[in-house]
Amino acid sequence: MGFESLASELEERKKKHLYRSRRLLQSPQGSEVLLDNKRFLAFCNNDYLGLANHPDVVNAFRQAANECGVGGGASHLVNGHHQQHHQLEEELAEFTGRDRVLLFSNGYMANIGAVNALLGKGDSVLEDRLNHASLLDAGLLSGARFQRYHHADSESLAQRLVNLPSTNRRSLVVTDGVFSMDGDIPPLPELVATCRQNNAWLMVDDAHGFGTLGRNGGGCIEHFELGQDDVQVLVGTLGKAFGTAGAFVAGSELLIDTLVQNARSYIYTTAMPPAVAAATRVSLKLLQNEHWRRERLADLIKRFRNGAVQLGYELMDSFSPIQPIVIGSEEKALALAAWLEEQGVLITAIRPPTVPKGTARLRVTLCAEHTEQQVDRLLDLLDQAKPQ
Ligand SMILES: *Cc1c(COP(=O)(O)O)cnc(C)c1O
Repeated sequence: MGFESLASELEERKKKHLYRSRRLLQSPQGSEVLLDNKRFLAFCNNDYLGLANHPDVVNAFRQAANECGVGGGASHLVNGHHQQHHQLEEELAEFTGRDRVLLFSNGYMANIGAVNALLGKGDSVLEDRLNHASLLDAGLLSGARFQRYHHADSESLAQRLVNLPSTNRRSLVVTDGVFSMDGDIPPLPELVATCRQNNAWLMVDDAHGFGTLGRNGGGCIEHFELGQDDVQVLVGTLGKAFGTAGAFVAGSELLIDTLVQNARSYIYTTAMPPAVAAATRVSLKLLQNEHWRRERLADLIKRFRNGAVQLGYELMDSFSPIQPIVIGSEEKALALAAWLEEQGVLITAIRPPTVPKGTARLRVTLCAEHTEQQVDRLLDLLDQAKPQ
């Protein structure tokens, strides 16, 4: 069998302005990057606190590599569970106020692992319709009854929970903590109450909230002051504000013990390099203690929002570093991104199926490394690009 059918599918994708391609990053991540041999002012990475290239984090990584080598070498349950992993787990448990934490190699695998360790046939998973792809995939893979509720809508959730069949075994409600393509946050206290009334567990993936929300960077659970009995399954990723790589699930002893026994994406994979864990221990300290990074970020977010709204752009209901500008059509979003790029500013156009049809957008992300001048430069270009 040839590949002709693949070629025509790819052609179709190009025609619809949905074709994706990669470019070469030739510098560390940051507010200014070298990409395909050109310098850009970038508003598209998730390194919100500027820790991915922080000298203390880099040094911790280097020193740990000297001491423990580069490769993880084995899975956690064979002999790859390094003391650096273990110490990071304990520090993250303290940081999140949970009994225990389990490290995963990345957020995608943490979500697949957690949902599938908890649910199977006869159970139900209920997801916000705008959840991250890894959460949706996790739910679908589990074989549980799969339903989506309206975005950030606890009544829509309640309706579905009430109508579950009497034979239903377990129910798990799953939501992003900060929605990755919209930047808004769900009404967590309402979701907690709805779950409690209907005997369901709540799982929150706060990939974008850790480090950016809450006084100490504790994310949406700190923002809303929610404990382990409110949000039973808490997920964080380390590749965003932490600036390193990996992810974790936090919760009760029983939850974590169950994941160690059952989470296939934990069991059947090589442990993350211990040096990554060592570097993350330093970035955790910076994330907690350097409040100025969060304060600076909040100021830049305000500055960007005020400016863009004054120019007449449609923003979303977000006070997070994710500040999408909704454009509508794929073609227009791509054209604006291309024009900005000619001016030396890099912002990714996000298109379906990542976001619903007709809501293609420029996903602007701000980070503590940006200067006010850089934000003003973006606003100035948006002014020039404004539809007349
Ligand atoms: C980025 C992201 C993930 C995936 O995390 P990785 O560590 O990059 O695999 C999971 N959930 C959400 C909400 C995310 O934004």
